[in-house]
Amino acid sequence: MRRKLVAGNWKMNGNLAANSALLYELVAAIGHAAPCDIAVCVPAPYLALCQQQLTNTAIAWGGQDLSAHEAGAYTGEVSATMLTDFRSHYVVVGHSERRAMHGENNALVAQKTVRALRAGLVPIVCVGETLSEREAGRTMQVVGDQLNAVLALLEPADLTRIVVAYEPVWAIGTGKTATPDMAQEVHAGLRQLLAAQDALAAAGICILYGGSMKPDNARELMAMADIDGGLIGGAALKSADFLAIIAASSNH
Ligand code: PEP
Repeated sequence: MRRKLVAGNWKMNGNLAANSALLYELVAAIGHAAPCDIAVCVPAPYLALCQQQLTNTAIAWGGQDLSAHEAGAYTGEVSATMLTDFRSHYVVVGHSERRAMHGENNALVAQKTVRALRAGLVPIVCVGETLSEREAGRTMQVVGDQLNAVLALLEPADLTRIVVAYEPVWAIGTGKTATPDMAQEVHAGLRQLLAAQDALAAAGICILYGGSMKPDNARELMAMADIDGGLIGGAALKSADFLAIIAASSNH
C-alpha cells in the first residue's frame, strides 16, 4: 500500500514571524512520528527557516518552482542546487498558477522536472484542466498531454522518484472541489498512463489531489483508491487545518 503524502503549498504568503510560528506549531503537534509523509513547499526565502526548524522532524520541505537552467544569467530564478543547498526534498513543478501567469508550457515543465530529478529533488508534477476544458470533455486529453510531456523526458529509473498532483484549475483556491468520484476517475487515468511506461513503478507512484482540499473533505477524497494524499494551498496556512488534513490521511 502506498504511504500517503500531505504537502502544503504556501504560495506567496506569510512573513518571517508568521511562517516561523506556523512551522513551530506543526512541529509541536507532529514531532518525529507522523501518520503520513508531510511536506511544506515554501517561498524560497524561507527555505533556511525550514532547514533550521524542521531538520530531524517528520516534516520535509521544498520549493514551489525551480529554473530549467543549471546556473547563469537568469535574474530572479532559483536553481535546483540552490534548493538542495537548504536540504529541500521536494519541489512543485508546473503549478497551474505558473502555467497561467508565467507562460510555462508542457515542454518547460518537463525540462524543470528533469532538472529537479538530476539534483536529487523529488518533483511534484502538477497537471489539471480548466473549467472550459472539463466542460468540453477534454479533461483526460489535457492532463494526459501534460503528464506525457514529462514522461517523454524521463529515464526509466526516474519514474519511481516523481510525485504527480492532479489539480483541476477550477478547484484551486475557489472552494469548489472535485467530488471524490470525479477526482478518482482522473487519478486512475493518470495511473494508467504511468503504467504504460512501467506497471510496477506506476503502482507505487504517489498521485496527490489538490484543489480546495480542506479538513471537511480530505477524508473522503483520500479514501479513494488512487488518491494518495493532497497538495494543499489555503488550508496549509493554518496549522489546525493542515493538521486536520494530516489526521484525515490515516485509516485508509
Ligand atoms: C494549490 O495551490 O496547489 C491548491 C491546491 O490550492 P487550494 O488548496 O487553496 O485550492
